[in-house]
Amino acid sequence: MSEINTALYIHVPFCIKKCPYCDFYSVAKLSLKERFVDALLTEISLREDCAGASAIDTIYFGGGTPSLLTPREIERILSRIRDHFNLATDCEITLEVNPGTVGPGYFEEIRRFGVNRLNMGVQSLCDEKLGFMERIHSAEVAGQALHAARRAGFDKLGFDLIYGLPGETETAWRKDLDKALKFHPEHLSCYMLTYEPGTPMHKALEAGRISPLRDETTAALFKFTSTHLAAHGYLHYEISNFAAGPAHRSRHNRKYWNLVPYLGFGPSAHSFGRGTRSWNHADVRRYGDDLDQGVLPVAETEILTLEQVLTERVMLGLRTSDGIDIKAFEKIANQGFMELFKDVVRECETRSWAGIVNHCFVLTLEGRLFLDTVTSLFAEKIWSR
Ligand code: SF4
Repeated sequence: MSEINTALYIHVPFCIKKCPYCDFYSVAKLSLKERFVDALLTEISLREDCAGASAIDTIYFGGGTPSLLTPREIERILSRIRDHFNLATDCEITLEVNPGTVGPGYFEEIRRFGVNRLNMGVQSLCDEKLGFMERIHSAEVAGQALHAARRAGFDKLGFDLIYGLPGETETAWRKDLDKALKFHPEHLSCYMLTYEPGTPMHKALEAGRISPLRDETTAALFKFTSTHLAAHGYLHYEISNFAAGPAHRSRHNRKYWNLVPYLGFGPSAHSFGRGTRSWNHADVRRYGDDLDQGVLPVAETEILTLEQVLTERVMLGLRTSDGIDIKAFEKIANQGFMELFKDVVRECETRSWAGIVNHCFVLTLEGRLFLDTVTSLFAEKIWSR
């Protein structure tokens, strides 16, 4: 399926409780869910012309906690999408699942309604880590959910894992990772714990109640993750993402990284296409009120400048193992890649941070540790040209 097809993202803004490190938009007020689903159905109908003639070949239910939707609600949403958009026959339909929210029969039902890929918010299979992150599930509950998903026939199973918690050693992380590998996930997203401003975890850090790992330790953990997973046959295809073979890479996320058009539904969801980005109000009540009146709940729209487009190409390309496609970049920039970035390329090559492979500029594993620095070097050249 061609990558010019559009992606759909649905933001489900509810969680049973907020995790102290999370800065995604979600509320713990489940009484608003029914009204949200009605509003979402209206938004889908109102935006039916937004994908033009292109087919939809990925749908991603993210959040928040999409697995708080009942199978019947998921069926209603998918059927509304089918009524208003042209769905590819092999459409990848992913649901993020919080293992602490699913009851018996859940996976069988959602599979029947068309969900064919799961992203399980496992985060860890160590109870101590789960406790620190204040997750609602235990390692045992996560294991039960994973087995239940397999029994229901899901053969595209991704796990989210978090590492780099205060005091976490390579030995402890290896043990956690190896427990996850026993389930043979087709996809793994391994995120380093970050302290996002405004979150309780960030406040605890500021107040000195927790101590972050030293930079050398996080760098060593990052490298270990990549080499350990490579030894188990996983492709490190994006800075935090690993796939058990090319076919198991997330089709949906690759569209974001390749700047393919996407439509986002739900509070705080972003849409992108034709050089424009817009995003919905990050407020579930405002979202419902606007749609009740037949108004799209758009908070802001921005038309990207050429500099913004080029910076995003660089930023996203550097994150992936495909790298920056030099020819595609030159076409948009109307300027030679080496003419613009000769010094940056030389510096990165000298430091063994990157190389040019098949006309793409690709970071090495060492270079990925300096992603922000390299991105800034490129951005400086783009904005001063
Ligand atoms: S369940 Fe996920 S989205 Fe909800 S607060 Fe926790 S990390 Fe954030």
